[in-house]
Amino acid sequence: MARRFGSAMISKTDSTRLIYAIGYIRVKGCKGQDGDSFSQFVPESAMERERAQRSGLYTGATMSTHGDTPNRSRSKAMQERAERYFPGGVNSPVRAFRAVGGEPPFVERADGAWLTDADGNRYIDYFGSWGPMILGHAFPPVVEAIERTARNSASFGASTAAEADLAERVSACYPVLEKMRFVSSGTEATMSAIRLARAATGRKVIVKFEGCYHGHADGLLVKAGSGVATFGIPGSAGVPEEIAGLTLALPYNDLAAVEAAFAVHPGAIAAVILEPVVGNAGCIAPADGYLGGLRAITAREGALLIVDEVMTGFRVALGGACERYGIDADLVTLGKIVGGGLPVGVFGGKRQFMDMLAPLGPVYQAGTLSGNPLAMAAGIATVRYLQEHAEPVYPQLEATAQAVFEGVAAEAAKAGVAMTLNRVGSMGTWFFTPGPVRNYDEAATSDTERFGRFHRAMLER
Ligand code: PMP
Repeated sequence: MARRFGSAMISKTDSTRLIYAIGYIRVKGCKGQDGDSFSQFVPESAMERERAQRSGLYTGATMSTHGDTPNRSRSKAMQERAERYFPGGVNSPVRAFRAVGGEPPFVERADGAWLTDADGNRYIDYFGSWGPMILGHAFPPVVEAIERTARNSASFGASTAAEADLAERVSACYPVLEKMRFVSSGTEATMSAIRLARAATGRKVIVKFEGCYHGHADGLLVKAGSGVATFGIPGSAGVPEEIAGLTLALPYNDLAAVEAAFAVHPGAIAAVILEPVVGNAGCIAPADGYLGGLRAITAREGALLIVDEVMTGFRVALGGACERYGIDADLVTLGKIVGGGLPVGVFGGKRQFMDMLAPLGPVYQAGTLSGNPLAMAAGIATVRYLQEHAEPVYPQLEATAQAVFEGVAAEAAKAGVAMTLNRVGSMGTWFFTPGPVRNYDEAATSDTERFGRFHRAMLER
């Protein structure tokens, strides 16, 4: 039986930037089959063993060959209702499928790698809630931790031991995080890291890279610019030019552009922030020497290096890109996996910077639900599992991702479709272009209309 693979993190242009698009594959005739790609290889507890036995991921028996058009009438009705209350019917824009076309399924439940929509259609889930569900949906240790914690109340607005428990695990994986703060989203994490960098340096200008997304804080929503000396213009209505003007957007993988920016703006740049492996323009790996070069330039110029690992953290390695590439960051931001599916972000780094935060120092940052007990419980259960099973988990993730990404690329080659595959661990993109893809401009040559068709076709299977 042929295996059918779905899309994940594929470049797609929307109005302001390339995003990666989500991928599911619908699976017909597989009622009663549950799959979990990750519990299969580490069936230690009885519950996990039972779950692994039930698992049917990637087995031929569960796969359809070609599907008839799925009925999504309930999803459609839910979307129409949601549009009465939410702009575009959604609480985060990419969920509306405007970039890829088609109608978004409403999800009812998910287990392991399987997702069921409101009409009872089943899908293999290739996007894992945009990253957090690395251990699969409803992973028993995570569910148990949340249930146990909820019985003691969901929030206190006062400290609990769980915060330091998770912090201890995070800094064991990320030694550069000597101190950290938990927040509730990646956006909060990057926004706070930038405030800290400005305070630490007494400078205002931020360097970011075209195609990198760091959340929706005003100063980071700068449309990709081109000239080194050209200050950014707002990438969203409602962002004052004065704020966008403090952000320089440079081409990724181009150290000369960074050197030139520091030369043109001496003593003005507070920090360089980047995705160490770009995910938000489709997957783009750092060129050899690029990350080390950024470290050397920022250190020489007295600017901070902020490594945004919201996507790469605990994913491209247990210690993320910092471990995989040996980056000596000043500040690191995390999100997604560290919360195990609950809203958690982290910013942290060298003690000398972190101790500038209130109440020790003059930089204000706070959050009513920061370090929330339920979020900490899910985060601890997830990170703990990854720490204790890093040996099977990461090699398995690598092997599975390699099979999926290279399998599709090989089929495309056979069919004569121009495609460039970029992949780092489980992050990867099929760009519909002959390539190569090393930066945003090259990513933008991907045929996004073709990708939209591919995405819709995968949903129909
Ligand atoms: N940084 C990166 C690298 C991201 O990929 C994202 C979200 N995809 C963010 C920051 C923002 O995180 P959040 O959506 O949790 O605000």
